[in-house]
Amino acid sequence: MKYSFLCLSLLFTLGIQAQMQPDLESQINDIESQVIEWRRDFHEHPELSNREFKTAEKIAKHLKSLGLEVQTGVAKTGVVGILKGDNPGKVVALRADIDALPVTERNELPFKSKVTTEFLGKTTGVMHACGHDTHTAILMGVAEILSKNKDKINGTVKFIFQPAEEGPPPGEKGGASVMITEGVLKNPDVDAIFGLHINSGTPVGTIRYKPEGTMAAVERFVINVKGKQTHGSAPWSGTDPILISAKIIDGLQTIISRDSKLVDGAAVISVGKITSGVRFNIIPESAELIGTIRTLDADMKAVILKRMSEMVPAIAKAYGGDATIEFQNNTAITYNDPDLTNKMLPTLQNIAGKDKVELVKATTGGEDFSFFQEVIPGFYFFLGGQTPGETLSAPHHTPDFFIDESGMLLGVKVMSQLALDYLNN
Ligand SMILES: [Zn+2]
Ligand SMILES: [Zn+2]
Repeated sequence: MKYSFLCLSLLFTLGIQAQMQPDLESQINDIESQVIEWRRDFHEHPELSNREFKTAEKIAKHLKSLGLEVQTGVAKTGVVGILKGDNPGKVVALRADIDALPVTERNELPFKSKVTTEFLGKTTGVMHACGHDTHTAILMGVAEILSKNKDKINGTVKFIFQPAEEGPPPGEKGGASVMITEGVLKNPDVDAIFGLHINSGTPVGTIRYKPEGTMAAVERFVINVKGKQTHGSAPWSGTDPILISAKIIDGLQTIISRDSKLVDGAAVISVGKITSGVRFNIIPESAELIGTIRTLDADMKAVILKRMSEMVPAIAKAYGGDATIEFQNNTAITYNDPDLTNKMLPTLQNIAGKDKVELVKATTGGEDFSFFQEVIPGFYFFLGGQTPGETLSAPHHTPDFFIDESGMLLGVKVMSQLALDYLNN
């Protein structure tokens, strides 16, 4: 206790918990309207994952105008900007995701998206229904501010504008993992990374965070059940894959309730799609189950995958059929490095106000920022985008999803100061 108090006093004496410099704060206030303008432009012209061509062009143009070293076409449509401070030091990365979703907007806004496209053979609207338009605009603002304050930077800032966070289209690769494969964390080698997500259910001005596992690892699974087709009136002459599917679904839930050490973290198995059969009086040949697994603890994840692999074929066998299971990893655990989180917490508190920085529980949503955190220490937090006084807000990924733009200013301030404090202390 005493020791940590001493450490804290030492930090104060060293000035590590510095407030934002007034000139920097006024520069950020001055570009708020520009940031909002960028955001509205991205909102009105959204592009799906791995198709962020115009978005990337606008980002690259802005970064070049600031004199940054710019790389384009990273992981297909990603853009990276490198800003060298006047003094040598560490390398910090700031990340924004830039893609939109196949959702048709229902908000009546002057900058409402009217874009439509073909997605998986269907015509759909396209909408920034997760708020990545705000992330992109915020990071463009941060790039502008920091590039005008190079004299205050000891080290290098890498701005990572990442495509396909929502997942690439079927059959394609994309997102954070591809950026990493293409070397985004190398040359210069990044020491730490920060990212944020705007949230429609968190009031403007508030920041929410959690050390260690904050968002879940996401796996997709596909189970193929094989039975033996027969007449619906004579099930004894075949093997019913629909009955086997029911037993499997039931069995999977016992992995959560009996095999998962739930005190270590939440875990979810959901079957989201079942396909089988053609008509009422035929017992079909096969069935396919598709679902998702969410875990917040690496050991629990290993147990769940192992038990599923054992249980699925065993249940099918018990009822005279066969079944296979395949897993596909979509995101890792979004894991906030505890030391980095502790180190940067004072920055959040100084910028937002101590009472506006809330420690929250983990969520079972997923985020591919987690892949960066598998390689280097990272910190990911949530930024308020809900209009003050509002209580019911449309969830992310829905046609009524709405972000109060006044929340973005805090995002620019916090991301700028995180970079400065990390590099300068
Ligand atoms: Zn999303
Ligand atoms: Zn998102």
